[in-house]
Amino acid sequence: MRPQILFPLFADVTSLPGLGPRLGKLVHSAIGPHVADLLWHLPSGIIDRSYAPTLAEVLPGRIATLMVRITEHQPPLVPRRPYRVLARDATGEMELVFFHTKGDYLAKLLPLGETRLVSGRVEIFQGRPQMTHPDYIAKPEEAAEVTGIETVYPLTAGLNLKTLRKAVRAALDRVPALPEWGNGPYLARQGWPAFQAALETIHAPRAEADLSPETPARTRLAYDELLANQLALALIRAHQKKQSGRVIQGDGRLRAKVEASLPFALTGGQRQALADIAGDMGAPKRMLRLLQGDVGSGKTIVALMAMLSAVEAGGQAALLAPTEILARQHAATLARVAAPAGVTVALLTGREKGKNREAILAGLASGGTGIVVGTHALLQEDVAFSDLMLAVVDEQHRFGVHQRVVIGAKGRGVDVLVMTATPIPRTLTLTAYGDLDVSRLTEKPAGRKPITTIAKPTEAMEEVVAGVTRAMNSGAKVYWVCPLVEESEVIDVAAAEERHAHLSQLFGARVGLVHGRMKGADKDRVMAAFSQGPVDLLVSTTVIEVGVDVPAATVIVIEHAERFGLAQLHQLRGRIGRGDKPSTCILLYQKPLSETAESRLRIMRETEDGFVIAEEDLRLRGAGEVLGTRQSGLPTFRVADMSVHGELLEAVRDDARLVLDRDPELQGERGKALRILLYLFERDAAVRYLRSG
Ligand code: ADP
Ligand code: MG
Repeated sequence: MRPQILFPLFADVTSLPGLGPRLGKLVHSAIGPHVADLLWHLPSGIIDRSYAPTLAEVLPGRIATLMVRITEHQPPLVPRRPYRVLARDATGEMELVFFHTKGDYLAKLLPLGETRLVSGRVEIFQGRPQMTHPDYIAKPEEAAEVTGIETVYPLTAGLNLKTLRKAVRAALDRVPALPEWGNGPYLARQGWPAFQAALETIHAPRAEADLSPETPARTRLAYDELLANQLALALIRAHQKKQSGRVIQGDGRLRAKVEASLPFALTGGQRQALADIAGDMGAPKRMLRLLQGDVGSGKTIVALMAMLSAVEAGGQAALLAPTEILARQHAATLARVAAPAGVTVALLTGREKGKNREAILAGLASGGTGIVVGTHALLQEDVAFSDLMLAVVDEQHRFGVHQRVVIGAKGRGVDVLVMTATPIPRTLTLTAYGDLDVSRLTEKPAGRKPITTIAKPTEAMEEVVAGVTRAMNSGAKVYWVCPLVEESEVIDVAAAEERHAHLSQLFGARVGLVHGRMKGADKDRVMAAFSQGPVDLLVSTTVIEVGVDVPAATVIVIEHAERFGLAQLHQLRGRIGRGDKPSTCILLYQKPLSETAESRLRIMRETEDGFVIAEEDLRLRGAGEVLGTRQSGLPTFRVADMSVHGELLEAVRDDARLVLDRDPELQGERGKALRILLYLFERDAAVRYLRSG
């Protein structure tokens, strides 16, 4: 239950002055439903109304506040022309211009012969200052209200600044006195303001510099938000660790058989990761480990070895994959590689239905099935295991923390291994996986040939097709990825179909098409035909982005590469360069390129190192977008900007873990304050892991 002290902040925004049902709805959808959401709606600029020149000195283009006497009203002679009001001071004359404004209203607002303050942007028109629709018209005695510095907020159509400003002000007034939840000595060292003071400061910028994310006030609030995030993760971790783990030690017989039959030797990184995992599994606590490795670094075999050790110990292992294609591919790969050890691999996705599904469930319930691969279907309530020892979650960024917890709950003290190929900058790793220990695969398997990356404008399409033809004729398999149209899978698909039609004219049946709207079975057929069959050129939407493994593919063409984020381009490029032949990635772009798009393409040409790319991506775009937030599963932040505040994370994480070590149920003085913090930043779910709220 949310603490009572926060109730005023979680009232509906319509409880704020000026926000009726209509505007309330706008604020709901643009900013958020609660009063608190307005607190995190940060200013985007300031308007300085302190510039108060005489009419003789006023500069065009600036916001000025002018003290003038009204000398003449000039109603329009023809309809739809503007209404003009003339005014002057000791140094000159000016014109105030109004469109669609009633004369009697203006007569009252600007009475003839009286003095008024007008504030707004000034232009010079036909030699004299002119102001169209002043932002403010006030009496001289009201000067103090007009001449200050105003805060500007990002707006949404239909909502004006004055209304929003008033609502934010009212929201700030509702912030109760809250106990300090921060780490006292740490805060003292930083010299940041307290929470409430920081909020006030951040909403009252005095100069452009006050808008920077690096101000002490903003940093303080970022700290609070990150602390909530890390504490939530630490709670989940503590909760999972509390369920005592089990000592799981296989005898190595299955792993030895599989390793002996591999056509390659494991890399040093793979061995190290396996040692980390064996250490965790063999210890009487739960494993919560992240295996991070760039695309193609060979995570799958690490997962298999870990799963085999569970089977050796008489238990079961499950691998959770984010898409149907991936689940099937993993099942096929694992089945093939595990065959020499006599281990079979079951598959469970949304497509296994009826009798088939029942049989699979029976195998899991009886323990007859040692290894299962599946999609979200594995998380369903009726999926029960005889003795699940290890859960592996692949491409975790597609899942939330929640799925990790659900699959981990399908057994007793289940060890959890999370794998991600997304090269996330270190800081972001902490925000999403702060509860996990980390193993990294930094080296690529030996013998990999580098990928040559080139960028070409769309005009060079023919040249590119000629190059692709040559590659195909010398035995290459080629991916051709079609433009990503944000928010519209339908348009994506249309573009892919069109390109497929075009390339089919050239290559006939050697061209296949796969996209997200196809039926699963059709997708499989095409993927199989590409991976082992007659299809040499695969046109697709971004469904191939994650994890698909066809080592014979050595060319990838990415159309409208300028529309993709760096992380996505990197993922896509990771589909090639998996075999022993050199590979080529062709980034087709549409001119003109934005500066950012140009930088992205340059970075892609310059490096293959996913971690370098991830850091660059963070720098170019800011954290929220790094992974294409749409399906990233990464937490998004209201106040914290990871490209600036990321460095706070480590300290915050350590602090959060320490707090829970000392006060696991958050009952102490600081603990209670931290509960409030969790609710304030809506980490309510995490509080459920505490015994009493
Ligand atoms: P990812 O880390 O992207 O999931 P995969 O596990 O799919 O990578 O591995 C990519 C390819 O590398 C696969 O074809 C796999 O068989 C191969 N591979 C894995 N480990 C090694 C190794 N040590 N030496 C050579 N090839 C390897
Ligand atoms: Mg993989």
